[in-house]
Amino acid sequence: MTAVLRVENLVRHFGGVKAVNNVGFEVAPGELRALIGPNGAGKSTCFNMLMGQLKPTAGKVFLNGEDITGRPPREIWRLGVGRTFQITGTYQSMTVAENVQMALISHHRKLFSVLPRAHRLYREEALDLLETVGMVDQADRACAILAYGDLKRLELAIALANSPRLLLMDEPTAGMAPRERINLMQLTSDIVRDRGVSVLFTEHDMDVVFAHSHHIMVLNRGELIAEGSAAEVRADARVQEVYLGGGTLFAAEDAHA
Ligand code: ADP
Ligand code: MG
Repeated sequence: MTAVLRVENLVRHFGGVKAVNNVGFEVAPGELRALIGPNGAGKSTCFNMLMGQLKPTAGKVFLNGEDITGRPPREIWRLGVGRTFQITGTYQSMTVAENVQMALISHHRKLFSVLPRAHRLYREEALDLLETVGMVDQADRACAILAYGDLKRLELAIALANSPRLLLMDEPTAGMAPRERINLMQLTSDIVRDRGVSVLFTEHDMDVVFAHSHHIMVLNRGELIAEGSAAEVRADARVQEVYLGGGTLFAAEDAHA
């Protein structure tokens, strides 16, 4: 089966800093895969190259077998790569449903001809997506008054409006309370299962990472140092070494013990 995403020998230098160095991996259809590592490991640099924000110094990125290395973000989005949780992409003055409808209209590339009637277009589809993220009861509320966790779920619905094959989520739960983090990752995991979409995400909370990922990759100083299941990554001596200083990898587990 062709990988949804294949990364080969990806490199990005900033002056003398090798932010990402010879990173290679694949994401299979329907896979929920985590990229973890300490601050400054190169996770965001990696994501930004996959999404077209940054051009690689070297290496290749393939989407469904097609070389997309160095293509601009808009083109990569059109090819079915969704991203969530960057700067809030919602229009505050519109309702929850209208924001999703705008995303659907944009996906169907009819933006300019139908804008004045946007409130009726794709209403049903928008409500379906809001149902998926558990927000349908808030469809007609203004975005300006949404709670933070609800805004994050709306952003996920907006990303899904593009029918992505791959979702890239760089720290999707940043700024969320622990309960909300677990809920959002559970929701993401359900979406992966129900829609067959692939997800690559970063996340600080190791409980969340270990509970939901099919496969985990560990980045340190720009290089992948380990990968595998939660159990394999936990048991890896190099991973333990990297995380000992920060103490984040096992802190939550130890707390339960
Ligand atoms: P992470 O997301 O894992 O915390 P980053 O990808 O943000 O790590 O950063 C990796 C390294 O690259 C860090 O040393 C960071 O300082 C450096 N870096 C990231 N972006 C830039 C940039 N635009 N210019 C210079 N250095 C950068
Ligand atoms: Mg980062």
